[in-house]
Amino acid sequence: MEVRTRFAPSPTGYLHVGGLRTALFTYCIAKKAGGKFILRIEDTDRERYVEGANEVIYSSLRAVGLNWDEGPDVGGDYGPYIQTERRAIYKEYAEKLVEMGGAYYCFCDKDRLTELKAVQEASGVNPMYDRHCRSLSPEEVKAKLDAGTPYVIRQKIPLDGTTTFHDVLYGDITVENSTLDDQILLKTDGLPTYNFANVIDDHLMNITHVVRGNEYLASAPKYTLLYKAFGWEEPVYIHVEHIMRDKQHKLSKRDGDASYEDLINKGFLSDAIVNYIALLGWSPKGEREIFTLPELVAEFDISGLSKSPAIFDPLKLRAINAEYIRAMSPEEFSKIAEPYIRKTCKGNFDILKIASLLQPRTEVLTEISDQVDFFDEMPDYSLELYSNKKMKTSPETAKIALEKALPVLENITDWNFDSIHDSLFNLIAEMEVKNGYILWPVRVAISGKQFTPGGAIEIAEIIGKDETLKRIRRSLDMLG
Ligand code: GLU
Repeated sequence: MEVRTRFAPSPTGYLHVGGLRTALFTYCIAKKAGGKFILRIEDTDRERYVEGANEVIYSSLRAVGLNWDEGPDVGGDYGPYIQTERRAIYKEYAEKLVEMGGAYYCFCDKDRLTELKAVQEASGVNPMYDRHCRSLSPEEVKAKLDAGTPYVIRQKIPLDGTTTFHDVLYGDITVENSTLDDQILLKTDGLPTYNFANVIDDHLMNITHVVRGNEYLASAPKYTLLYKAFGWEEPVYIHVEHIMRDKQHKLSKRDGDASYEDLINKGFLSDAIVNYIALLGWSPKGEREIFTLPELVAEFDISGLSKSPAIFDPLKLRAINAEYIRAMSPEEFSKIAEPYIRKTCKGNFDILKIASLLQPRTEVLTEISDQVDFFDEMPDYSLELYSNKKMKTSPETAKIALEKALPVLENITDWNFDSIHDSLFNLIAEMEVKNGYILWPVRVAISGKQFTPGGAIEIAEIIGKDETLKRIRRSLDMLG
């Protein structure tokens, strides 16, 4: 049988890191088996609907390379893949289930249900529908339907006995049927609840494996009962634990780092995000931790999934991101770094050269802009920057060094890394001083910063001869 898995997000306007992880595991299971990965949009909760949210899902998944074989915008044999476009299907199956004896019409209005709930809560019992309409006769039902009375369709849960379902990570879970609510399957607006739609769709779309958050574990027996009532076979279930911010708190969108988009905005690379997220709740067999998406697919195995909550570790993500940055070709890195460089550095500089200085020292892309803000213009700086214990420099020694370096640099006719390097190193040899005695003050004098990507020679090369000399002269003025 072909393995068919689905990612079924609700359009909330962002892709939660937990959702991305579900999508990733789901994708890996299908691709590893040479099967199909399906995207289904679960948008039946109209109150939560956010305009444009489907596009966010499409673009985020595409950005990380989780391309679906079937889905809303690519089609497929089992569509439509957007639940609100499948209304007629749910109605048909809900009505079929009523005929088969697994569901019933309920005409209770809001007031009655609210009161029922209040009474139950006041007496300390779990609020559950009291099955008031379960015993209506077919004639009574028909009369109400003919009269246009608003209705829902509810699941007819067996009154006694137990239901057992199987989850790959949790094993068999058995519950008393008496604890299960006759939940709503089809709402008054004709749309299904998630609890109904997921069963119908997973069956009709021939889904073989379902990966989802373990918040659905509690409802899973009701899904099992629906499969039984229809006489259908259940998919393999894998309920995964939450991703936590710390031991007590779930990673939540409100904290600003829970969505894929948040992480991209924070300067992480798509590939690094995917790689890190795969390691949340899944362990590869060996020690290796860096995997591209195709490598993850090859390495992935359900047995590596864990049912303990995974804690999202931003430092670990940074370290993985840094590894991805290091592994890029200089051209590739320059391309992704350029927009960040350009935020603070607008002059006509060799971007590839600037990027090559940044590449070994960048962990996240957002750190770039502050590092290159001195190329366009020198910041104001304190003369204290010339003091460096290790180099044995001070504003006084800097003055001497810069006075010596200035004419040497003025004399260079062909301004490039080698010529600047050779001139300054000749001077160092002549003066019989340590490299830092000259290089530290020159770097401070032309950058105005304590830390810079690259040293004096690299910076001088990039900003050019005129600008280098101008900056040194100005710094000498400051040194008096
Ligand atoms: N639409 C559900 C959610 O976004 C999906 C649950 C499932 O995969 O079945 O949580």
